[in-house]
Amino acid sequence: VDLSVPPKARAFREEVRGWLDANLTDEVRDAARGRDLDEDGRFEVLRRWNATLVDAGYGAVSWPVEHGGRGASPVEEMVFNEAMAAAGAPGPVNAIGVSNIGPAILAVGTPEQQARHLRPMLRGDEIWCQGMSEPDAGSDLASLRTRAVLDGDHFVVTGQKTWTSEGHRADWCQLYVRTDPDAPKHKGISALLVDMRTPGIEARQITTMAGDAGFSEVHFDDVRVPASSLLGELHGGWRVATTTLGFERAGVVRLHAMVRAKLDRLRRDLEALDPTGSSLRADPRVRDRLARRHIEIEGLRLLALRAVSGAQRGGVPGPEGSLAKLRWSLADQALTTTAVDLLGLGSLHDGWARDVCASRSLSIAGGTTEINKTILAERVLGLPREPA
Ligand SMILES: Cc1cc2nc3c(=O)[nH]c(=O)nc-3n(C[C@H](O)[C@H](O)[C@H](O)COP(=O)(O)OP(=O)(O)OC[C@H]3O[C@@H](n4cnc5c(N)ncnc54)[C@H](O)[C@@H]3O)c2cc1C
Repeated sequence: VDLSVPPKARAFREEVRGWLDANLTDEVRDAARGRDLDEDGRFEVLRRWNATLVDAGYGAVSWPVEHGGRGASPVEEMVFNEAMAAAGAPGPVNAIGVSNIGPAILAVGTPEQQARHLRPMLRGDEIWCQGMSEPDAGSDLASLRTRAVLDGDHFVVTGQKTWTSEGHRADWCQLYVRTDPDAPKHKGISALLVDMRTPGIEARQITTMAGDAGFSEVHFDDVRVPASSLLGELHGGWRVATTTLGFERAGVVRLHAMVRAKLDRLRRDLEALDPTGSSLRADPRVRDRLARRHIEIEGLRLLALRAVSGAQRGGVPGPEGSLAKLRWSLADQALTTTAVDLLGLGSLHDGWARDVCASRSLSIAGGTTEINKTILAERVLGLPREPA
């Protein structure tokens, strides 16, 4: 008996499983694993799959119905994500848009901004990127220097962002700019919704050690952005940033299902390598490592359940999202390293090489391990604050 899932959510899970059985193809599964296709081909397969999902009512299930979601409860959202991961189905093609920027537009955007942006974002018709980090502003985001000066009914933007995921592909950017250079650094920032086709924007791709070119540095040279694209209040961008990052870290809690799907994949690959279970899988050292990975993932699932039950009771995500982020990055890194160790060189052609390289970035993206440890020490454990 699955005690943690109420009957309505269990029925929803069966519905989603049935739909996935009928609609998820091997082409989409392979694209999710980065097999065979070149990057652009893979992206287009994922974009088509995303539109199929959204048209069937399985986009961002927790979003309000009027913006393309289905108003699902946190538990229903959790069973949906688990069913998707277990089937090997990729999530939103517009991951940053749907998990971070969309919820921020829902929280602080105007009705016009919500009506204009949310549906095309959800369907993957318009791809979004997030322009926060700069060459000299990463962990210390508030020291960002990209400037926007109000000139009539436009902002004029000049500066540079970096590590912008999907920057070269994006149609829109949630961009953080300094609008008041004289104010204290957290109080002079604004957030803008910027059309990436505006003259003066150039995205230069960066290739990662995982072999993909998913990042860009984005340059802004006297870019004229309508004043109506301000998201939230003028000089109120810090609040938008913390809201957006709060959604990002809270969203990590959903990712336990993806790591579990990777562990299941490792088990299947080990079975294929050692079908009788007499050598590799009988080795106590191998069993010990698999058990440790299982326990780490089970810990992540319990963190997810705690977050879901908090959300069911109307709580807002708090600093404990940093714990999920930290444990998730460590679990994924340990799992991919275990996979490559146990499967040997044979594993390297089959997505694991990409996974093991990509997993290194998890302790940097969305707030580094050190920053998350500081948040946990100060705001969860109540330890003395780090000297400024
Ligand atoms: C996969 C990936 C995707 C990303 N996508 C985006 C994106 O779409 N948009 C975007 O804007 N950015 C993105 N980033 C950038 C990311 O947010 C930054 O890399 C991150 O915030 C760290 O900033 P930094 O790289 O400038 O490192 P720095 O902040 O310079 O840190 C360097 C090192 O110093 C440590 N450090 C810094 N400050 C402290 C402190 N106070 N106490 C202890 N240690 C400290 C850090 O932990 C780190 O180890 C992405 C990064 C990755 C890896």
